[in-house]
Amino acid sequence: MSGVTRLAAVIGDPVRHSMSPTIHNAAFAELGLDWTYLALPVPSGRGGDAVEAMRLFGIDGLSVTMPHKDTVAQAVDARTSAVERLGACNCVFRDGDRLVGDNTDGDGWVRAFELDSGLGLADARVAVIGAGGAARAIVEAVGRAGASEIVVVNRTTASAERAAALAEVARIGTVDDLADVDVVVNATSIGMAGGPDAEGIPLSGSWIGQHHVVADIVYQPRSTPLLQEAARRGARTVGGLGMLVHQAATAFERWTNHTAPIDTMTAAVLGAIPPDD
Ligand code: NAP
Repeated sequence: MSGVTRLAAVIGDPVRHSMSPTIHNAAFAELGLDWTYLALPVPSGRGGDAVEAMRLFGIDGLSVTMPHKDTVAQAVDARTSAVERLGACNCVFRDGDRLVGDNTDGDGWVRAFELDSGLGLADARVAVIGAGGAARAIVEAVGRAGASEIVVVNRTTASAERAAALAEVARIGTVDDLADVDVVVNATSIGMAGGPDAEGIPLSGSWIGQHHVVADIVYQPRSTPLLQEAARRGARTVGGLGMLVHQAATAFERWTNHTAPIDTMTAAVLGAIPPDD
């Protein structure tokens, strides 16, 4: 590092567990860029101050995680269409003097899904299980990717309605809709190691058929109970690591204008997440 080293950072509360420094510093090193990336704990309610600090300190890239995604979306100078619709921002980049808020989660999932499965989402029938922050970003991005139908299935109806409003082709559905779609993505925290339902499968899995591509955005464990059940029933599966890498890759490209070194970023993630038992 030197006096001209450029700085990127992730803000959150908590943030020390974040994998982003590992992923981005590996990418900067691979491309020989004089950048460094830190994790900065910022207490709840201070997201707007962090954007001001970005201006003051000349920070060139910001990742934003819980609980700041909404407040940062309000504090930036301009927002991408994804942020306008979602009201949540996970990445801030510079455009001249302006700080622009983006949300790379949805496009990161689409990019990872299409690469990992080899299938395009244009004209696909997609079901999203869950309606939290990640699910909403996926619904919005899958709508832009040209899906013919998006069914949102969630425990709480009000959140499902909010998510389904993010794409013209989206509607609320139930478990009975899942057999008839092409792609089903779990965007709940069910199946996440250390979470409240680590051994669980959303909606039991009895709907899974051989025609499905079943994706999970949970990435720890790498093979979730849902993905194991889907494989047993003959469906194709896509894990959650790709989304983690590609949402970071999209942010990296916004900040540096360099193509992200996906293989290096993937290796960094694989090195940081223990293999399944
Ligand atoms: P969130 O905003 O808290 O939303 C959680 C969602 O899960 C809600 O729809 C919630 O339903 C549902 N849910 C939780 N427990 C449930 C249960 N026992 N039964 C039924 N539904 C349940 O969380 P998020 O930020 O969207 O993240 C969701 C998961 O995705 C987390 O595991 C996170 O680690 C993972 N994630 C992965 C990536 C990646 O890069 N791969 C990126 C972001 C998030 P209600 O609305 O009914 O409460």
